[in-house]
Amino acid sequence: MRRALYPGSFDPITYGHLDILRRAARLFDQLIVAVVENPRKEPLFSAVERRDLVKKALAEEKIRGVNVITYSGLLVDCARELGATAVVRGLRATSDFDYEFQFALTNRDLDSDIESVFLMTAGQYSFLSSSLVKEIAQYGGEVGKFVPDCVARALVAKLKRNRRRKEG
Ligand code: ADP
Repeated sequence: MRRALYPGSFDPITYGHLDILRRAARLFDQLIVAVVENPRKEPLFSAVERRDLVKKALAEEKIRGVNVITYSGLLVDCARELGATAVVRGLRATSDFDYEFQFALTNRDLDSDIESVFLMTAGQYSFLSSSLVKEIAQYGGEVGKFVPDCVARALVAKLKRNRRRKEG
């Protein structure tokens, strides 16, 4: 049984993530999306909201057989506990490389039994990031091309709630 983890912030999940997920699901017997609870940047959505959006997006895109969890702590510990032997990451531009290189080498140093696997982005998603989607949504732009409907709706609702909270 080849089990892989696809870790990330997913704040929120985009079609770029979903493309990597769909392709990774073909390579492994079991794929688990691991939503990191405390990402490097202050997230817009809570870990549970991000996890639920991944689940909804998978259902909307009809991608079956992928589990979704949240995790905190070391990725290699999470992988070991779940019996995963691979960590999947997506690569967009060379700008992703430095961080991913460091991340992969550190993880290998911590546990050499866990292999990092990199999938190259699809051309049409090479510019796409969660940050870009949030920025477009913030200024009232249309994000339907970048994220599934359930995510677009959640973004509008979350930003409206945040705006009201700031004003009130
Ligand atoms: P992190 O904060 O861990 O980078 P992200 O949610 O931003 O979390 O990304 C998770 C993984 O998905 C990373 O490996 C990232 O490079 C990859 N990824 C994000 N967007 C895309 C995209 N448009 N195409 C391919 N891979 C992507």
